Amino acid sequence: MKRALFPGSFDPFTIGHYDIVKRGLTLFDEVIIGIGHNADKHSYLPIDERMERVKRIFADEKKVRVVAYDGLTVDCAKKEQAQFILRGVRSVQDYEYERSMADANLQMSGIETVLLYSKSEYAYISSSLVRDLMRYNKDISHLVPTV
Ligand code: ADP
Repeated sequence: MKRALFPGSFDPFTIGHYDIVKRGLTLFDEVIIGIGHNADKHSYLPIDERMERVKRIFADEKKVRVVAYDGLTVDCAKKEQAQFILRGVRSVQDYEYERSMADANLQMSGIETVLLYSKSEYAYISSSLVRDLMRYNKDISHLVPTV
């Protein structure tokens, strides 16, 4: 059973994230979406709401599970028996960051990271853009999955 953990803040979950999960499902038997939360780190949406949203989005998808975790991503991957970490890359900035995370995680645990390039039409989409629009009561329906 090939299992991948897709970790992130998902604050909130966007159609860019959704696309990575869907494409991940063509590579893995199961994708576990790990929503990271850290008591010291401020988030826009509370963890319960982020969980609820993502669970609703994948309610009909048997090969997707949603978990919340704090602490190290590799510890969550081990707990969930995921052999892989799945991440998305939009830009050179993402690449640099993902490279160092993948390196650190491999060194720490032997867990491989699989990176998927974002589709170009989604490359501009970020949770922070969606948060900005939400703050000013703007339409976000084209940026988040419909449930
Ligand atoms: P983090 O806070 O860990 O960076 P995010 O929730 O921002 O978590 O992102 C989780 C993963 O999804 C990261 O690998 C990020 O690069 C990827 N990602 C974010 N937005 C997109 C997008 N529009 N297209 C593809 N991948 C994306």
